[in-house]
Amino acid sequence: MATKYIIFTGGVVSSVGKGVTAAAIGRLLKERGFSVTAQKLDPYINVDPGTMSPYQHGEVYVLDDGAETDLDLGHYERFIDTSLNKVCNMTTGQIYAEVIAKERRGDYLGGTIQVIPHITNEIKRRIGLAGKTTNADVVLIEVGGTVGDIESLPFLEALRQLRSDVGRENTFFVHVTWLPHIGATGELKTKPTQHSVSELRSIGISPDMIIARSDYQVEPSLCEKISIFCDVDRKAVIPMVTTKVLYEVPLLLEKAGVGELLMKRLGLEPRRKPDWTEWENLVNLEISQRPTVRIALVGKYVELHDAYMSVREALHHAALSQGVEVVIDWVHSADLEKDQGWDILEEADGILVPGGFGSRGIEGKIQAARFARQHRTPYLGLCLGMQVMVIEFARFIFKSEKANSTEFDRGTPYPVIDLMPDQRGIADMGGTMRLGLYPCNLQEGSIARRCYNKPLVYERHRHRFEFNNTFREQFKAHGMIFSGLSPDGLLVEIAELEDHPFMVATQFHPEFLSRPNRPHPLFAGFMGAAKEHARMSTEELGLVKTSTT
Ligand code: GLN
Repeated sequence: MATKYIIFTGGVVSSVGKGVTAAAIGRLLKERGFSVTAQKLDPYINVDPGTMSPYQHGEVYVLDDGAETDLDLGHYERFIDTSLNKVCNMTTGQIYAEVIAKERRGDYLGGTIQVIPHITNEIKRRIGLAGKTTNADVVLIEVGGTVGDIESLPFLEALRQLRSDVGRENTFFVHVTWLPHIGATGELKTKPTQHSVSELRSIGISPDMIIARSDYQVEPSLCEKISIFCDVDRKAVIPMVTTKVLYEVPLLLEKAGVGELLMKRLGLEPRRKPDWTEWENLVNLEISQRPTVRIALVGKYVELHDAYMSVREALHHAALSQGVEVVIDWVHSADLEKDQGWDILEEADGILVPGGFGSRGIEGKIQAARFARQHRTPYLGLCLGMQVMVIEFARFIFKSEKANSTEFDRGTPYPVIDLMPDQRGIADMGGTMRLGLYPCNLQEGSIARRCYNKPLVYERHRHRFEFNNTFREQFKAHGMIFSGLSPDGLLVEIAELEDHPFMVATQFHPEFLSRPNRPHPLFAGFMGAAKEHARMSTEELGLVKTSTT
């Protein structure tokens, strides 16, 4: 069967859930027995988002092969439940770097190198690779940004050409737009959608479907109007009202007939009948009344929740599996340093310190780890969250506040976290960390081993620093267990405390492997411990905690 391409463009404004929509449509196809892959086309000039501040970009999502990618790839993996690879995120920077390298080699034999055809051909070559490397029946392609951006033009031109290269019957364009609501009249407006469709047409692309996002109910007459003005089949104008429950999106799209429509238009015969039982159960659970568990997430970029997208999702998956509702209290680690926010930690049933870089707010994170150890509050540390747990423990056992990571204090007398040997001498910042999937052996009898319930696991990494083995014996003697090690025994991948209900931290990022129907074992274990903490404190206080959000 010829590979099918479903292309997603955005209209009107960004951040209306184009990535989630694409991911959810991927699920509709997967439910019909097709293998699906997804590719994000990012128009910025960075080679990857790895060097960007989370404030600019949100989370950097890491794949098995170590590619540092856009957070939308997290949505794709969570919804479609497939492992993507590095060709699944292409940026303008990558395209130009490749074309310029070829030019310097003389590969173009004296030709003048131009956006069309050289840049567009390289884009198409990479689109082809997405299907080939994953053996997918259907490739979902999401174009970053909104139609009208100058920088996305080469991508759109390449996709326009793709339609004639592979045939109209093998491509389908979905335009995701936004209907603004006018408060004074209480109306939803379609004009911006009309404009963005005409913009798309002016570059030669006619959408086959419009997904009209809105915060308000969309009347059928409005869909009629969009259909007429934008020349899109009425059945292919899909209103999509904002839902609180993320995993409801595929169910809503299915109900709106999107699956059927795609089958017809792409000439596909479903290989099996979709079975939505699992997703319906997830959604029903999500909307059901459950006891509340409060998790304090102590980070540095907490103003921007997108910076911790996968952590947040992993907490939700774990909460569903434990039959509780998680309320995340976002704590700025720098506030703790100023004596603010401690009441939140006191109220918390669990404390989570996620990954991060640089020294701002680091002392606050170390203090949060101290609080968790002393108050026996369940603690989960991720990457930097493990490093701060180690630093805190070192300060405790060596009775010196000078213990540190050499990332933050090069001259510390107790460099308990230090640069990995193979990181020394690396000058380039981009793509040079220890990245991607590595094996980890779990120690019998540890909390980690109990959570995973198997001896060997593979997890995704993104770091330059590691536990300094010169301190291993002293730490062990004082009750820290190194429950996860690289198979050669040299790298500490998981550390936990002996005399604590749940103080577990990982050098890797388990959040990237959590799925809605398959919560990550360590997140599930953490949530279980937090649930127990909540139960105990409720009993102690003789009150029932209630959700406030
Ligand atoms: N900054 C630390 C390191 O490079 C932690 C990285 C992280 O949390 N992803 O090792």
